[in-house]
Amino acid sequence: MLPQLTDTNGKCLNCGVALHGNFCVQCGQRASTKRINFKETLNSFLGLTFSLDGPLLLTIKLLFVNPGKLFREYIGGKRKTYYKPVAFFVLVTAIYLLLRASINFDPLEDEFVNNGQENLSGLEAKIEEAARLVSENINNFMFFLVFSIAFMLKLFFRKTYNLAEYTSIGLFIVGAYTLLKIITMFIAKFALVDIDNIELVILVLLIFYSSFSLFKSFNFWSMAKYSLVSFLSLVL
Ligand SMILES: [Zn+2]
Repeated sequence: MLPQLTDTNGKCLNCGVALHGNFCVQCGQRASTKRINFKETLNSFLGLTFSLDGPLLLTIKLLFVNPGKLFREYIGGKRKTYYKPVAFFVLVTAIYLLLRASINFDPLEDEFVNNGQENLSGLEAKIEEAARLVSENINNFMFFLVFSIAFMLKLFFRKTYNLAEYTSIGLFIVGAYTLLKIITMFIAKFALVDIDNIELVILVLLIFYSSFSLFKSFNFWSMAKYSLVSFLSLVL
């Protein structure tokens, strides 16, 4: 057991404010901060990331069960309860790319002819491949999709939230879509089904369902707007 780092002056080790109680009133850091060690680091990472009532799993659950509640509460100020949208988007994309590389799934393999990379072998080829996958994904679809969803929501529901808030919603929605892509990727890989059209349908339904859940309005005009947001996000 490593000794605690104790500040003899009773001040927060992070920001220097005088301590009262178990957490710093200024920055929220634990008053009894321990020395960094691997076991603690791993435990707190696993705890934060995968605990059942932790922000990540709660966020994922709400994204599919009641996305509107997640968006409203997160934007409304409930920040610690949920996983941050940017972090969520990055984490899910990283997991997706990692899994995709590990099962050697290339969604572009029909369109792409192997462009003279046969000479690279082993690790070098793997790194080359990973770099290509990352750049493709960041440059192409997902990143712009976030902003086109945000832009369309802002266009049709101008008054409710600002563009930055809609962008966080876009990040959540595309994150949820990426999670579903992981599932369809495995289906495509092992059942040899063409999933391009299925993925498009899933995406349209997901955007529609998310905006419906967010605004909870049943009237015809709202329904038309959810549909327009869903389709135009893709067109854009
Ligand atoms: Zn502090």
